This record gives sequence, C-alpha cells and structure tokens, in this order.
Amino acid sequence: MKTLITGGAGFIGSHLAERLLDDGHEVIVLDNLSTGSIDNIAHLKRRPSFSYTIDSVTNEPLLAELIDRCDVVFHLAAAVGVKLIVEQPVHTIETNVHGTEVVLKHANKKKKLVFIASTSEVYGKSTDVPFREAADLVLGPSAKHRWAYACSKLIDEFLALAYWKEKKLPVVIVRLFNTVGPRQTGQYGMVLPTFVRQALAGQPITVFGDGTQSRSFTYVGDVVDALVRLAHDKRAIGEVFNIGNMGEVTIADLAARVKSMTGSCSPITYVPYDQAYEAGFEDMPRRVPDISKIREFVGYEPKLALDDIIRSVIEHMRAN
Ligand code: UDP
Repeated sequence: MKTLITGGAGFIGSHLAERLLDDGHEVIVLDNLSTGSIDNIAHLKRRPSFSYTIDSVTNEPLLAELIDRCDVVFHLAAAVGVKLIVEQPVHTIETNVHGTEVVLKHANKKKKLVFIASTSEVYGKSTDVPFREAADLVLGPSAKHRWAYACSKLIDEFLALAYWKEKKLPVVIVRLFNTVGPRQTGQYGMVLPTFVRQALAGQPITVFGDGTQSRSFTYVGDVVDALVRLAHDKRAIGEVFNIGNMGEVTIADLAARVKSMTGSCSPITYVPYDQAYEAGFEDMPRRVPDISKIREFVGYEPKLALDDIIRSVIEHMRAN
C-alpha cells in the first residue's frame, strides 16, 4: 500500500508512519512543522520506503501530486491542542476547514481512500456517556472559542460524508479520544506530557479546575493499530468510528499517579480554568468512548493500560 500522511511529523502521524513502514508499506509524509517536528521522523529518514516533504497541505499542486502517488491518504494535519485553539481561533478554523477541503477535492479526482482525523471534542458537553457515534452532539456557544475546534472538525466530517454520498469518494472518519504516548509535546496544552515534564523538573503539577473532570487516555500505538485495521476493511468506508479506551481517570488522580511514578517531590496545585485558559472557559466533566462499533468491525481492542502508558511517557521524557 502506498500511503500519504498529512501531519506525518506530528505525534500521531509519526507513530502511524513507523507502523506502516514496519508493515511493509510505502509512506510519504507532508507536514509544515507548525506543531509537528522533524525530530519525530528523524529515525525514519533512512528507510527506503519513506519520504517526506516540508510544506503545507494548502500547496495544492504539490498536494495533488502526492495524492496521485498514493493509494490511501491519512489526513492528520490540523491545528490541535486546547491551548492553541483558545489562543489562535482564526488559525484553528482556517487550518482545519480549508486543509480538509483541499485534501478531499484532490483525493476525489482519483477516488483515493481518505481517512479524516476528527476528535472526541465533537461530543462537546454531552452527558450521554459513553459516547456513541450516532449520538447527538452538544456544543457550547460560538462566543467561546474552545468550541471552534469541535465545529471545524464537524465541518470536516460533514464534508467528507458529503463527498462519499454525492461523489462516491471513499472516506473513513475517526474520532480520536485523548491519545497519549512518547513524542507528544505538552507545548499546546496536552495534560499528560505537561504533568510528566512538571514532575521531572520538580515544578508544581498544575491541575486545572477542581480535578474531578475525567478523561479516557489511549496509547498512540493502539490508535495507530485501529487506523491500520480500518484501512484494510472496505466495510469501514462511509462510516464514523470512535477510537479510544474506555478506562477513565480523573485529572487529580492522573496528577497523583504521575507524581508517584516519577518519584517527584513536586506539589500538586489547582489552577482555576479562567487563569489556565480564559474567562468563562468550559471544560467537559467526562469523556468516555463507546468502542463497540470499531470492535465489531475490525476487532479493535486497546492493549496498553494507563500505568503502562504513563511509564512509557516518563521513560521517553527522561531519555530526551
Ligand atoms: N489539564 C490540566 N492541567 C494541564 C493541562 C490540562 O489539568 O496542565 C486538564 C484540562 O483542563 C482537561 C484535561 O486535563 O480537563 C485534559 O486536557 P487536554 O488539553 O490534554 O485534552 P482535552 O481533553 O481538554 O482535549
């Protein structure tokens, strides 16, 4: 299989590239290094089936050529991270909507299979936990920038499904829940790498809000495995899938686990949301995926438990 990964120098993209190469596939990475890093793919550069181009998906002549050369496009290039989204809402909306628009447009010319990376954020404030793909989505008002991310990704979903319905472009939509593992940076606000970095540096571990909000974290290797399984199953075309792990942890508990597993003497401090993000910031109290659909389709089962995931992040950060 010849594959193109947009955002392939990012955290998830670089793990996907590695897995596809290990499976004997050809990988082309297109990344503008806005949040990705060349370090993430440095170890892949010498592999014969690997190539990369540092450029934006909005370079349409280049994008069209790269799509022509592959069988499957994994479109992971996006503006990610709650911090980035709150600070740069224009960039988030434009990147996520326009990027997907041009990927779908060019993939459609040769009817190449496209994976659209969406997000658990689209479930918004829904309390109907665990979240099922067919459930209603409950977003906050447009004056609160956080929701721009969910909305931009939802437009991507609608557009991809429209291409499938109207033009028979094969698309698969994946809603990724909190994905963690080695190489993820805390620079854009993600909680686990932030906590581990703080703990290793002996700095306060900053829990936002009262810490009772919970998340379900999935190991990046498990997410990548789900993507590969879906890419081999034609029944996935035109469908939306949650990819996640049902195990739930509160953020206060996560902070305590990181502190104990690093043996850190960092204090755990509580930061109000309006100081952490912006006034009126809305967080989700719980976010748990229902993974029965992907389980039924391709037998996906997340393998790594939370403590093993935390350990892998600690080891990676210590080594770097
Ligand atoms: N969070 C935190 N401290 C941090 C960064 C994040 O307590 O330094 C919290 C954040 O408010 C949210 C959870 O951890 O409740 C997960 O945040 P993240 O940005 O990783 O992902 P989200 O689920 O919000 O997309």
